[in-house]
Amino acid sequence: MSMMLRMALRSCHLSPFMRLCRMSTEASKVSSRLSSLGLLRTQGLIGGKWSDAHDRKTLKVENPATGELIADIPFMGRKETTDAISAAYNAFHSWSKLTGSERSKILRKWYDLLISHKEDLGQLITLEQGKPLQEANGEVGYGAAFIEFYAEEAKRIYGDIIPPTSADRRLFVLKQPVGVVGAITPWNFPFAMITRKVGPALACGCTVVVKPSELTPLTALAAAELGLQAGIPPGVLNVVMGNAPEIGDTLLASSQVRKITFTGSTAVGKKLMAGAASTVKKVSLELGGNAPVIVFDDAELDVAVKGAIAAKFRNSGQTCVCANRILVQEGIYDQFANAFAKGVEQLQVGNGFAEGVAQGPLINQAAVEKVESHIHDALSKGANVIVGGKRHSLGLTFYEPTVIGNVNTEMKISREEVFGPVAPLFRFRTEQEAIEIANNTNAGLAAYLYTTNISRLWRVSEALEYGIVSANEGLFSTEVAPFGGFKESGLGREGSKYGVDEYLEMKYLCLGNLKSA
Ligand code: ADP
Repeated sequence: MSMMLRMALRSCHLSPFMRLCRMSTEASKVSSRLSSLGLLRTQGLIGGKWSDAHDRKTLKVENPATGELIADIPFMGRKETTDAISAAYNAFHSWSKLTGSERSKILRKWYDLLISHKEDLGQLITLEQGKPLQEANGEVGYGAAFIEFYAEEAKRIYGDIIPPTSADRRLFVLKQPVGVVGAITPWNFPFAMITRKVGPALACGCTVVVKPSELTPLTALAAAELGLQAGIPPGVLNVVMGNAPEIGDTLLASSQVRKITFTGSTAVGKKLMAGAASTVKKVSLELGGNAPVIVFDDAELDVAVKGAIAAKFRNSGQTCVCANRILVQEGIYDQFANAFAKGVEQLQVGNGFAEGVAQGPLINQAAVEKVESHIHDALSKGANVIVGGKRHSLGLTFYEPTVIGNVNTEMKISREEVFGPVAPLFRFRTEQEAIEIANNTNAGLAAYLYTTNISRLWRVSEALEYGIVSANEGLFSTEVAPFGGFKESGLGREGSKYGVDEYLEMKYLCLGNLKSA
């Protein structure tokens, strides 16, 4: 490393602009454009002010496709989180008093700004997360739609009137915002996992402290900047990042935080749920899945192949609804395996900015090691590689799109999410057997099935112990439908009219002793 570069790296704490360190031409073009637009924010947001960590400690954000440093961000902890909670608590008073229509207008403006910067945000996602640019732009459209939807729902937070049990009483149900929300989000959707939480929270009148993943905080910060431009008042939306367990513990310990909403691993979700007990907070969790794709003999082969590829390889297999087990009925197994393998072989791997790339890098080395350990375990127990099966020649964290056959329920891959581009094919005989294998897991987020038999479609959909069943379709996510899981996949739902319930308290109001004239 040159002396100049070392000095530049050391001086990263001096100013936000100086935090933009060495990058490839492509990445630096993207970041200088974002910087000129004021969208390359490298500080936390507390009470409407862009802030450093109190001790100026920083953390590196790297491009997973190149290993290059993109920016240094503040390494925040208890002190900054406490400040952010206070800011959110103070802002709650006035934000919650606005009318639904007033909040709606601000959210709608935020949505318009997000959409007008769709490509900028998409580039930022590709830069820090690695997914192909087209997919990243898709995430911005999808994520922004939650802000639009909840801008509309802000005007439709209805209460209720209950017929009274005596003539001198009137009974009402009022819906009120829960208060300050702590929202902890993962790296696989650096934008959409935030808008799915912040949209309904703000619509209901809550204020929020967001903790994005330290691996991908820049998109969250850019979205927050656009939120400020839209007129979200200081303190209503705060963003802190750094020491994740310390930030989490501070949110959990605070009696001012009334709700924790989390998307991430099951292990961390369980910790947060336990930690929320001491102050009895409302909790919603969107945790790991173990999605089965069931392909019946009567499926339309092309539809099943296309759907299974989309459900498996999107975001390099790094989503909680990615196909984790592909169960194929014996009559169609060979045909499906051949067509599926052909499709997978055509997936182009590379830097997400390059034209035609369908699969970017994995997020980090730990992710690649997890994929390797699952494949090693499966091969040692009798599975065989049909396509791929090793690190990609591009190096770093690129991994070949992989298909393995002869997988069975003894293998680790049938019990745990692989969270990478590996499609394991299982063979089954009967419908009942497929349902049993599909349900034999602690997870219950999304399941997919392919059949042209409408009676079977209903029967199997109803038997699957999953929060989401997608029939003859590989991509189902939309802001208008409820997303969430059964069993250990979580609590609560995001999206749709049901999404606001997570951010509302229900108050029963009894008016008694009313006098008759
Ligand atoms: P993943 O394996 O997908 O990164 P994690 O559950 O580790 O999933 O991370 C999801 C989010 O949870 C990230 O923002 C991460 O920083 C945060 N996180 C990790 N550990 C904790 C913790 N102990 N308390 C609070 N948040 C945490």
